[in-house]
Amino acid sequence: MKYYVLFGPPGAGKGTFAKLLVETRGYYHISTGDMLRKEIAAGTPLGLEAKSLIEKGNLVPDEVVCGMIRSEFAANPGVRGFLLDGFPRTVTQAEALDKMLAEIGKELDRVVSIHITDEEVRRRIKGRALVENRADDADDEIISTRIKNYHEKTEPVINYYKAQDKYVEVEADGTIEENFKKVAALVD
Ligand code: AMP
Repeated sequence: MKYYVLFGPPGAGKGTFAKLLVETRGYYHISTGDMLRKEIAAGTPLGLEAKSLIEKGNLVPDEVVCGMIRSEFAANPGVRGFLLDGFPRTVTQAEALDKMLAEIGKELDRVVSIHITDEEVRRRIKGRALVENRADDADDEIISTRIKNYHEKTEPVINYYKAQDKYVEVEADGTIEENFKKVAALVD
């Protein structure tokens, strides 16, 4: 069983590449953002808690997302491997993930980071807003908060994984096909 993290700022293409890896390699995709949006749509208590935070561009609490990841691992025992998309987003989450995997005698295989500039983040998120109808994608102020949170809370995760020698980075400056080739080569 393999465990990969697809890492990068909002709009980097993590979800797109994860879907292509599912189609071509049969991995199991876990997107905490997608799971939270489903909870919101279903009107669950967790969804209600997450809604106000997501709508402002803030992160939901570490315990909430760590619990979601733990249950996804437990619910899918026979898969070839997991692609984590949008998790971990804080060093606390990265530590919790290591602990979770150690408990079942596993460890993370690799963190594939997809790099784009802040300017590109803005451009892509605004493009996606038109297609996916996400309120957190449509508003400049919310996008700025998400970029700020990425730099302050998520970027420190890079050094955490560099110290474990598990971090590899892809410059996503080509077409989707070109960028996907680079990402897939690091997962194969
Ligand atoms: P995403 O679809 O990955 O861009 O996630 C959308 C929103 O869900 C983020 O802006 C956060 O508010 C929340 N979210 C998703 N994943 C996490 C996570 N691992 N930790 C905290 N908040 C998260």
